[in-house]
Amino acid sequence: MMLKTDQDFFQSSVQFVKGVGPRRGELLAKLGVHTVRDLVYLAPRRYEDRSRLKAIGEIRSVGQFETIRGTVLAKGKRRVRGGLWIFQLAVGDDTGVVYAVWFNQPYLDERFHAGDNVIIYGRVQLYGKKLQMQNPEYELIESDGEDCLNMGRIVPVYPLTEQLNQRLMRSVVRHALDASGPHIEETLPDEMRERLRLIGLRDALENLHYPGSFAAQGRARDRIVFEEFFLFQLALVLRKSRTAHVKGIAHTVDGDLQRTFIGSLPFPLTGAQKRVVEQIRLDMAQPKPMNRLVQGDVGCGKTIVAVAALLTAVDGGYQGALMAPTEVLAEQHYRNIKKLAGGLPVRIALLSGEKKKNDRTGLLEELRGGTIDILIGTHALIEESVAFKRLGVVVIDEQHKFGVAQRASLKGKGETPDVLVMTATPIPRTLSLTVYGDLDISVIDELPPGRQKVMTYWIGKNKLADAYGFISKQVKEGRQAYIIYPVIDESVNAELKAAVKMADHLAKTAFKGIPVGLVHGKLKTEEREAIMQGFNRGEIAILISTTVIEVGIDIPNATVILIENAERFGLAQLHQLRGRVARSSHKSFCILEGNPKTEDGVKRLSIMKKTSDGFVIAEEDLAIRGPGEFFGERQHGMPELKVGNIITDLAEMQRARKEAEALLADPGVKTDPRYEPLRRAFRELYKDKLNLISVG
Ligand code: ADP
Ligand code: MG
Repeated sequence: MMLKTDQDFFQSSVQFVKGVGPRRGELLAKLGVHTVRDLVYLAPRRYEDRSRLKAIGEIRSVGQFETIRGTVLAKGKRRVRGGLWIFQLAVGDDTGVVYAVWFNQPYLDERFHAGDNVIIYGRVQLYGKKLQMQNPEYELIESDGEDCLNMGRIVPVYPLTEQLNQRLMRSVVRHALDASGPHIEETLPDEMRERLRLIGLRDALENLHYPGSFAAQGRARDRIVFEEFFLFQLALVLRKSRTAHVKGIAHTVDGDLQRTFIGSLPFPLTGAQKRVVEQIRLDMAQPKPMNRLVQGDVGCGKTIVAVAALLTAVDGGYQGALMAPTEVLAEQHYRNIKKLAGGLPVRIALLSGEKKKNDRTGLLEELRGGTIDILIGTHALIEESVAFKRLGVVVIDEQHKFGVAQRASLKGKGETPDVLVMTATPIPRTLSLTVYGDLDISVIDELPPGRQKVMTYWIGKNKLADAYGFISKQVKEGRQAYIIYPVIDESVNAELKAAVKMADHLAKTAFKGIPVGLVHGKLKTEEREAIMQGFNRGEIAILISTTVIEVGIDIPNATVILIENAERFGLAQLHQLRGRVARSSHKSFCILEGNPKTEDGVKRLSIMKKTSDGFVIAEEDLAIRGPGEFFGERQHGMPELKVGNIITDLAEMQRARKEAEALLADPGVKTDPRYEPLRRAFRELYKDKLNLISVG
């Protein structure tokens, strides 16, 4: 191929690397590898020191991960009860035998033959008196010859997808590195590298894949992680400085509506609410767009703060929009806000997904004409037909339930409206320091007076009858309860059937004589509204529900939530569900029924038992799931960090932030030839993404 510049080379398709081609190019794309650059920056998952492999006879303790090299002595597959396939391999060397066992992969039978040379990697367990590895990673070794990529050294182990194997990956990475050699430009200025003691890029890439020692691998990783974080922070800092110049609406913040509203509430605001309302007022008065996140644990009273912001906009003749992630929540907001703002001259409307066509057309006209002041709804708000006259503020409740594009398109309904996003799923401190550096954050760190801590229990199925008994007792004392019915992942219909059957059954047995209601996502709006209102008024004492009530629902008299099959929920979800209770001064209870099969599952339920602090839970959740899943690209638009880890490499992220701020303050940053390779790398990674990196 003809290549004019180094940049072209790095950006060229990975297909052109020797040994790749179109078909493997597609497989690599599944790993996020599209270009030569992606391939040379693809960090190994782990490394194996094959310069000195342990003999089987040297294994002293079980429970550890080991790498074993041996010969296939025998193999066999069989089917056990329940249709499960078991495939077994006996792998031996001169000193002993290890049995490798795989479940439900009968095709492995064709992959191995007696006499094959293999390497297996996994946790060694004792099965009877035999050493066993379950579902180990494996690699077939050609021969002893001079296989210098796969043997006799520290060997990289890459992430794979189907039809790619380690040998192939090692060879194509090797080819890519060899071909890249002359094209690899140093991205970091020498002065910075020396000051921060970072090795050169070419050296780092070589040692990322084929390190001479683990120390060299560590230095290589440090260098690559810094570069990755540094480019990322450049993007964030740049974005922040750009938005600083955008002109927004300077709202009149001393209007009557807002003041009257707060004055007429049936309770005084908490100190934290007052502080946050004030922060928002100051933001809104400024002639630049507000971009603020309000974090506050479940039940702290975020809705009031949102209404204050909406009314501030209306005070100055603007409109406000409030978007919530579920119909049930949007309906609740509509009801509550209408009630709270009842005496005020404000037109509030609900745009439901199911509104009849005629009502809808009328409503949209009024919105466009400006007679509707506050519009509440779900994703329906971002549909194209929805147009405002003068949208001045946008509030997004439970923001973590929306994607970055959805948030942006609501914002796009106005010219430069102020944006307020709210969440009870806090951004862990580790992230708010860095990744979300361009958002202003308010924290409501105080609950309304008289709230009690939720008592959380973790029980097995055998104790469910007791739990039902406890719920009946609470109901007799005048309280209400939620039962969250298992989310079974087979199919929505099967799940609903089970919930319906269960509700029916419980109403006739454990809860005989107690009014029980059932809500789920498939109910018609009117039916669902009728049941929710019935629960709201106390006519229904026990609400059996799927997760449609996960976020936001506020029924202060409910004091028990029983979550069945709790192991199926994520931590954030469990915390949200538990947040449905303890919304009054009555003592509240959360009962988790679950029998987790995984370590993570056990961890989640234990954490729920241990703490009810949303911040602690968010940090733990981040640690369990990892940053990639915790905040996927859809969520925040941030490109995935490939090598560095936001949690464990936090110090490095902070260092990168400082350096990025310093560099961008340098007037030569855009023109100085010293920075050209850096500018190029930055463009390659971020040119299309700058606008998306934000929560708001
Ligand atoms: P969340 O922060 O979870 O969205 P909500 O806004 O739904 O919380 O408020 C939870 C409950 O607390 C509501 O019933 C609300 O009326 C009540 N509440 C809010 N602020 C106060 C306050 N300052 N004093 C007493 N109750 C309050
Ligand atoms: Mg809420």
